[in-house]
Amino acid sequence: MVKIETGNCTRCNTCIRICPVKAIQTDASDGFPVINPSRCIGCGACILACDPRTIFYRSSLEDAKALLASGEKVLALLSPSISVEFEDVTDYRKFATMLRALGITYACELSFGVDVIAYKYQLLFSDFKGRYYITSTDPVIVSYVEKYHPNLISNLAPLVSPMIAGARIARHLYGPEIKVMYIGPDIAKKDEALLYDDDRKVDVAITFHELRSLFKHFSIDEANLEFSEFDPPLSYKGALYPLTNGIIQAADMDENLVTTSVLCIEGIKPMMETIQEFENNIKFIHRHVHITSGNSLAGPGFTKQSGRLFSEYLVIKYTNKRLQRFFRLEWYQQLQTYLELDYNRPYRNDDQRLPVPPEEKIAEILTMLEKKGSETVGCSECGYSSCREFAVDIGRGLASPELCISYAMKNSMSNMESIRQLNEKLAKTRRLLKETEEQSRLQKETSGRMSELTDAMLEKLRAGVVFVDNKLKIIKANATFSSILGEEAEEIYTVIPGLVNADLNKLIPPNFINLFSYVLNDNENIENRDINVGGNLLNVSIFPIVNGKIAGGIIRDMRAPEVQRAEVINRITDVIDRNLEMVQKIGFLLGEGATDIERMLNSIIEFYKEEKKKR
Ligand code: SF4
Ligand code: SF4
Repeated sequence: MVKIETGNCTRCNTCIRICPVKAIQTDASDGFPVINPSRCIGCGACILACDPRTIFYRSSLEDAKALLASGEKVLALLSPSISVEFEDVTDYRKFATMLRALGITYACELSFGVDVIAYKYQLLFSDFKGRYYITSTDPVIVSYVEKYHPNLISNLAPLVSPMIAGARIARHLYGPEIKVMYIGPDIAKKDEALLYDDDRKVDVAITFHELRSLFKHFSIDEANLEFSEFDPPLSYKGALYPLTNGIIQAADMDENLVTTSVLCIEGIKPMMETIQEFENNIKFIHRHVHITSGNSLAGPGFTKQSGRLFSEYLVIKYTNKRLQRFFRLEWYQQLQTYLELDYNRPYRNDDQRLPVPPEEKIAEILTMLEKKGSETVGCSECGYSSCREFAVDIGRGLASPELCISYAMKNSMSNMESIRQLNEKLAKTRRLLKETEEQSRLQKETSGRMSELTDAMLEKLRAGVVFVDNKLKIIKANATFSSILGEEAEEIYTVIPGLVNADLNKLIPPNFINLFSYVLNDNENIENRDINVGGNLLNVSIFPIVNGKIAGGIIRDMRAPEVQRAEVINRITDVIDRNLEMVQKIGFLLGEGATDIERMLNSIIEFYKEEKKKR
């Protein structure tokens, strides 16, 4: 009957705290409150407590419009609480006209149903057979007993509410085919209306909110309408029904506190305490109890909430006005007629009680809440009268620890500390990242400079230099390398500086390629290998740079004069070094002659060194 539309919900948990039967829990998936309809008793406390107005009762507006448009005869049962809602309507007789303007065929007061049921209670209480009763005029109270005190179902008075009695009376008076529309402030009447499908049936139950919407929809304004009287049956003091003891007064029951057999209680919390006491102590109390939720004076079906005293005054004023046109004899005859009808009703056991968790579990929860030792007291902010009751419902899965303000604050402080630590770590990481970025920028700059330097150095070398990857694609080569390979390679070099990505296979012959392949595959150096390429003698050294991935080659064109000279010097030096022993042996065998050979060779070396200096 009640639902939460989470769009505007602030997750303040007020509804969870205020629900008297813990029918609202937090949805673990999104943290929004959710109503368990099986546990709800329709008190409407959550609707009134929700500040963003995001909890709603089931609307019957469209059903009401459909009924009015159906062409059926519709009888309205108007609650006397109308006096609290419509204090702006100057005369109650305007209501009758306004209802008829809506399309209502019979504009009746609920008050006669109250009169009848009040007298039924008088009979029940006066015919005492040892059982004490809890009145059942308010569906919220009935639902509470059925769900949370099913042991007391047999103590619920076996009488329908005035609304259901009114529907049965109306059908006896106007015919079984009429449709009945209840208009009042109690949202629980909407569910009560669904309970019957015989001549007690109420076809649609609307609140004052919805009645105002209908007036607006049909542009009905009392200023444009004349007075008219309500349709029979006319009531007596049933108009006092919204007051705590209204139904007792309506039947002129004894209210003398010394002699009365009925105690009157109003409000959700007093109702719960009273019913608990009734269960525990009724054999000592020896009284019937009339209990109401209080929604007939200040429920969610009103469009505004007036002060208690003023509301009571309005009800009494309305009743007085009604009694100015009261004809006791006529009323009494009607009462006697309709008292004859059957107003009995059954109840159902709808037990929603949950077992109390084991003591160890409760103790564990109290320890978690840091309430161990103070469990019998409590701030009540969680909606429970003690920390123990709260812990019990946490154990039952009906409450969450976050409803405890001190627990939630500690949690949120520890969360804040975690967030602070996280922020610190984040700031540190950011600093490190900035430093790394700076280092990387410097490295990039340095490497750029180094690359420029290396390129310049490569170009200065008189030897050809080439670097290739394992697919024999050129990573870098210098201009000398291209000029050693000939004109075609030189042309390519002018278009693609460094011969980057050029295929080495297409630039040098297979015997040369094999040397690069060998170095890349075997990771071995090739030093000073002479090879013939296209009739040119080249001196080649190839070495791995990154094993199996990159190799570098130094190629010298043996035709170049500077190479020839340097090579002659290198090779003679090499010959001398390698053959020194042999030369010495030759010297030993040939005497001075051998020294002449060495001298001659040395002179050649010196000559080329001199030549080199000159250049
Ligand atoms: S009282 Fe309203 S806003 Fe607060 S949690 Fe409940 S539904 Fe959401
Ligand atoms: S209507 Fe009453 S019982 Fe139902 S969820 Fe709201 S507060 Fe709880």
